[in-house]
Amino acid sequence: MSTQESGAELVENVSVVDREAFGEAVWPSGYSGPPRVVECRHCHTKNRVEVPKAVLFPEHHDCGSCGKKLFLDSDEPLKALSSKAYLHSLDRKSLMALDSIPGVPELTRYLLSRVGDRGTRLLLMSSAVKCGPDQFPELVRLMDRARMRLDVPYRPEVFLGESPNMNAVSIGFNDPIVMVHSALLDQLGDEEMIAVLGHELGHLHPSHHVYHALGNLLLMGGAAAAGVAGIVALPLRMALLQWQRASELTADRAALLACRDLRTCIRLMLKFAGGNRPGTRARTSIQLAPFIRQARELASQEASSWVDGALAAWLTLNRSHPFVAWRVMHLIQWVERGRYLDILAGHYPRRVVTGITSRPPAQQRVPSQGSRGAQSRP
Ligand SMILES: [Zn+2]
Ligand SMILES: [Zn+2]
Repeated sequence: MSTQESGAELVENVSVVDREAFGEAVWPSGYSGPPRVVECRHCHTKNRVEVPKAVLFPEHHDCGSCGKKLFLDSDEPLKALSSKAYLHSLDRKSLMALDSIPGVPELTRYLLSRVGDRGTRLLLMSSAVKCGPDQFPELVRLMDRARMRLDVPYRPEVFLGESPNMNAVSIGFNDPIVMVHSALLDQLGDEEMIAVLGHELGHLHPSHHVYHALGNLLLMGGAAAAGVAGIVALPLRMALLQWQRASELTADRAALLACRDLRTCIRLMLKFAGGNRPGTRARTSIQLAPFIRQARELASQEASSWVDGALAAWLTLNRSHPFVAWRVMHLIQWVERGRYLDILAGHYPRRVVTGITSRPPAQQRVPSQGSRGAQSRP
């Protein structure tokens, strides 16, 4: 055996140990749920799999009948994946609540046509760095890997913006843009970056575009500029924020489908919560297990005490993003009980593919004239 082979085996063994330790952190008392039945996409045989093993080691699962891989490889595209496949139920319900507020679709059309995201786009063009073949192509390649895995046919323009805060922003209705804060590059590895970019791609579907645009216009004072401040009622703002929080849970699922590693996604959330700065790295090695315990503790605290539950709900009222610990729990619940494993096995709603598309499916939800605009944070 060559030294090189031994090295590769060592890396593989370390990865297996890491993943097993991570599994013990996610399911400290063992997984109590039933096994899942996963249909082989090649021969349609139904295979029974243990959820933790399938989530942690999808590549180790072959069909019991034809012997082919049960789950897609990490770089295999989820062909024609529809965003319906990973839409969070809270996202769908909050959207229905928004739609039911009289005048909201009309107001959205009006705001987008009057204001749109032209200001934000101008700001990016004038103060951030546009990436492409001759400017930070490495970042564009990471975006390409994320969209290849999610099978997003169009490539958003990628901008790099200087900022000490870890963040990414998606903007644009007809011409999507993703702006990456430079702090992300200091603190994240490539797979974590792919998760962030996958999250942003998860926002690039019609509903998110329209209502993120509306939310941001209201928050940025665009409504006042358009002369409609008086009709923007508090309930609308609250409904929008509630939906925005739910939409983040949808985008988190897209992040997981882009990186296909729960460990990477939770580590990413840990870094968003506590940072991954040199001062921290020089003093300690931040651990995933206590962070997951913290998230579980929060969930059980809220579930067992109505005071804590009400307080938590009140604390989030004015936030556009859910608490990180909640996002961790929602993601774990999705891999345990949701469609994650089915999607990885190739079973998911597909969008209608009509040919090569360079644009997002914008304006399908709320047709408008010259409308633009969407913004989100990971
Ligand atoms: Zn098979
Ligand atoms: Zn987001």
